[in-house]
Amino acid sequence: MSEATIQHYINGKITAGGSDQTQAVYNPATGQVTGQVALANHHDVEAAVAAARAAFPAWADTPPIRRARVMFRFLELLNRHKDDLARAITAEHGKVFTDAQGEVSRGIDIVEFACGIPQLLKGDYTEQVSTGIDNWTTRQPLGVVAGVTPFNFPVMVPMWMFPVAIAAGNSFVLKPSPLDPSPSLMIADLLRQAGLPDGVFNVVQGDKTAVEALIEHPDVQALSFVGSTPIANLLYEKGARHGKRVQALGGAKNHMVVMPDADLDKAVDALIGAAYGSAGERCMAISVAVLVGDVADRIVPRLAERARALKVKNGLELDAEMGPIVTEAAHRRITGYIEQGVSEGAQLVIDGRTFDPASAGAGCEGGFWMGGTLFDHVTPEMTIYREEIFGPVLACVRVPDVATAIERINAHEFGNGVSCFTESGHVAREFGRRIQVGMVGINVPIPVPMAWHGFGGWKRSLFGDMHAYGEEGVRFYTRQKSIMQRWSDSIAAGAEFVMPTAK
Ligand code: NAD
Repeated sequence: MSEATIQHYINGKITAGGSDQTQAVYNPATGQVTGQVALANHHDVEAAVAAARAAFPAWADTPPIRRARVMFRFLELLNRHKDDLARAITAEHGKVFTDAQGEVSRGIDIVEFACGIPQLLKGDYTEQVSTGIDNWTTRQPLGVVAGVTPFNFPVMVPMWMFPVAIAAGNSFVLKPSPLDPSPSLMIADLLRQAGLPDGVFNVVQGDKTAVEALIEHPDVQALSFVGSTPIANLLYEKGARHGKRVQALGGAKNHMVVMPDADLDKAVDALIGAAYGSAGERCMAISVAVLVGDVADRIVPRLAERARALKVKNGLELDAEMGPIVTEAAHRRITGYIEQGVSEGAQLVIDGRTFDPASAGAGCEGGFWMGGTLFDHVTPEMTIYREEIFGPVLACVRVPDVATAIERINAHEFGNGVSCFTESGHVAREFGRRIQVGMVGINVPIPVPMAWHGFGGWKRSLFGDMHAYGEEGVRFYTRQKSIMQRWSDSIAAGAEFVMPTAK
């Protein structure tokens, strides 16, 4: 394999693996190939799982406070290398550098949370559940657990998973997206420097083949997946068939309701940032503005003006607001959606397809560029309303009142994030109570919960019972054991043939 091959990390070592399959990795800003990522075969996955299985007993036996100390050292290293990670994200994903720094920071939050694992694993204890008998519950790690992650957050999403999993005493196999695989190896190196024993954290690069090998592997106890809904659904079902615990986070179509009493300046800022930030390639991006009453006529011209003025540039430029689209294929898919929106009768207010890549900066002519697109008069039957576009396309929907807004949102198949801009406490309260969505923002456009609250959507945005990170994350990566104990002095003589009851 050539030097530019991005390889696996198994049992504490970078390794080429046994497969000669690779996939090109691009810099989306220039369109140039910057490396080749190895695509693992079944044997490579087997090697990673075997390393994780071998490392598990000693790691699970390591006192939680010592596991936490490894996390503390990892945290220090992450803070020191934050910008290196952010640059690596921009180089392969394309998002602007400042946004990539934000991504790393939100990942660091979870590592900070995982540093508190001794407290999080503290069990419950009841003295004297019956005379002379005590009962306690404890949570123990599962064993080898795996994470399969999407391209859009190559640092943050893996960090939704492995810090909690590892701190809880599991060993971990990460299968990152092949579109931006390099940050995973930087993370592995920082964990090694932090003193994590070999085999506790492993990376297998690859595609579907690697994921299938993981989901079918009898030694993998649980799988955390984040990606598109069809794959999330598939892996949830497959995982159940193979007796695994699965949490599979899927796609989204996030609405932001703007009420007539909302502060429109703030609502415009929020919509522009949340729709076009990271080129709309966020599962919490706002892709639908639900404009109540007379809001549409007041806000659409202002949104158009701002969408036209977006600074769409190479992400390394510090004043860039939006970078390129991740791949040529994604660019084609988004362009197709814009064409479909037009043909289905939506009003195209700003057409991002007309963007000139030369204006993105030197060397960007061959990159995967487009500007922000704005549609008005979008209706629920239209494809651009129903499906996730995952690009810088904002659809404005006009509704007469908040009840209709809530009804529309609740009827959508996705339920990841939602936001409502209003100055009314009553509307905010009712909205929060009645909306069928997992993560709700009141005057907050992207309400990604903090590390100790847990992340997860409803409906077809999450398959499984437990959200990522926070206390649900700890529950996902551990299982409860109840221990009931007594000593012979408190045991009465004679066999008991009736169901034991409290005495
Ligand atoms: P994707 O579903 O194409 O890929 C996600 C992961 O699954 C990658 O590691 C990929 O290699 C693997 N994969 C792809 N096809 C597979 C198959 N047939 N079988 C098994 N594994 C397969 O998603 P993506 O394009 O990388 O990411 C964008 C999607 O992720 C969007 O739908 C977005 O909404 C979603 N997402 C959701 C959340 C969330 O929290 N709900 C967060 C981030 C991204």
